[in-house]
Amino acid sequence: MNSYDVAIIGSGPGGYVAAIRCAQLGMKTALIEKYPTLGGTCLNVGCIPSKALLDSSHHYEHAVKDFEAHGIEIPGDVKVNLEKMIARKQAVVDQTTGGIDFLMKKNNIDVYEGLGTFKDATHIVIKGEETTEIEAKNTIIATGSKPANLPFINIDKERIITSTEALKLKEIPKHMIVIGGGVIGLELGQVYKRLGAEVTVLEYLDRIIPTMDAGLSKELNKVLKKQKIKINTSHQVKSVERKGDEVIVKANNKKGEEVEFKGDYCLVSVGRRPYTDGLNAEAAGVKLNAKGQVEVNDYLQTSASNIYAIGDVVKGAMLAHKAEEEGVFVAETIAGQKPHIDYNLIPNVVYTWPEVAAVGKTEEQLKEAGIDYKTGQFPMRALGRSRASMDLDGFVKVLADKKTDEILGVHMVGARAADMIAEAVVAMEFRASAEDVSRMSHAHPTFTEAIKEAALAATDDRALHI
Ligand code: FAD
Ligand code: NAD
Repeated sequence: MNSYDVAIIGSGPGGYVAAIRCAQLGMKTALIEKYPTLGGTCLNVGCIPSKALLDSSHHYEHAVKDFEAHGIEIPGDVKVNLEKMIARKQAVVDQTTGGIDFLMKKNNIDVYEGLGTFKDATHIVIKGEETTEIEAKNTIIATGSKPANLPFINIDKERIITSTEALKLKEIPKHMIVIGGGVIGLELGQVYKRLGAEVTVLEYLDRIIPTMDAGLSKELNKVLKKQKIKINTSHQVKSVERKGDEVIVKANNKKGEEVEFKGDYCLVSVGRRPYTDGLNAEAAGVKLNAKGQVEVNDYLQTSASNIYAIGDVVKGAMLAHKAEEEGVFVAETIAGQKPHIDYNLIPNVVYTWPEVAAVGKTEEQLKEAGIDYKTGQFPMRALGRSRASMDLDGFVKVLADKKTDEILGVHMVGARAADMIAEAVVAMEFRASAEDVSRMSHAHPTFTEAIKEAALAATDDRALHI
């Protein structure tokens, strides 16, 4: 039987990064994955394929809507070849997952294909084409998550679908009904809207992206409405029924009246649930909590002291970069180091266009905590760079402590916000004040000038260009 210092179950961004860091630290490492390709949800059916389709559909939208204004004329109609678009997405996925195979080999990590099942706290049975058993001093559970569902919905994976199927449709829907106005619903909703579908979003709460700052929800709502995505907040879905190629969704609206929506596809995007099926966690003494997450302490250690858990299967944001940080954290903890993660500084991004990005506290959180804060906001449309690229929507908002001027949160909607948020993370990691950022030189013309201007506005209401 092969013996390891560390075995990792699950090869998503949490698991494969943990494996690399363990190997770097000199541990004999095994990685167990039940699917034939490595990379987990993120690389196979999550972050990477969704961004590939967002990029492709954005190019199409530009060609149809914006090229003319830029003085570019295309003879004849611009057409979508969905099959080719999906094939390009798959090529990006294959290249990316292949890259993980390379990294595993480079770091001498033994990869096992099969379902990892605990026999006890130090033995794992791997059920693949053959059944293998390995011994591990330490184990990291990184088994991730699966799409959640509502109890009355039968996801048939043809017309009533999750994000996984939405990434490989064979036709452009005529009318896609999206249940859930969160990240997946809005990103994939926007993909199909750009390609020509009618898109109707039904959100249970009173605003889309409800966990983010309310100002971002409002701005994104406004922009998506302009893009003709129909957004219905405060709608409680009651039933989803398929009749041939038609899907009928019934919901109660704000007034409690029953309303009906008819489409040809229904995307169910109401969150994700932790995944521990087949793991046999109890055999290892690993406890789950009421939400089905693996219960962990501040060191990400489970109720079995030699077993850790990271990523979507534990509490916290379900984000690839959060899983990665936790993978490194646990590897270094096992090696006897004292690593640190500041969960407040994990950025959150929605890759619609304009993009939405945030880090730190929202206004709602600061109010609830009774923290005295000041706000500086700057509209993207006031930037020269925005006018040059015709990306006028959005703003940057800086929240700073009223007394100390320390930045407590940065929230933005706008072109390239996903990349710009890194500046806010760096500033907050070094506990910068709004004035610190306002006095840094920002290249002109760039979208990042909006961060400087918002910081100026927060410092002393002295933005320069508005
Ligand atoms: P996962 O990536 O889910 O990986 C878990 C792996 O464990 C899987 O490969 C699974 O097969 C394997 N596994 C499970 N049980 C066993 C077992 N018993 N034995 C062997 N293997 C097992 N996050 C972002 O930060 N940015 C984004 O842009 C983004 N976009 C997304 C888009 C979509 C459509 C979706 C669905 C998700 C997106 N996410 C995004 C979320 C991101 O994918 C997850 O947060 C991330 O993948 C979590 O990583 P993980 O390592 O915890 O688990
Ligand atoms: P989400 O939590 O972002 O959004 C789910 C939405 O569905 C929420 O707004 C919620 O209020 C709503 N909802 C819940 N029950 C409902 C009901 N009965 N009727 C109508 N609406 C209902 O979840 P998601 O969009 O499914 O994404 C899952 C996870 O994947 C998220 O936690 C996210 O972190 C991650 N993800 C991240 C990215 C990114 O980082 N860009 C992209 C995609 C997914």
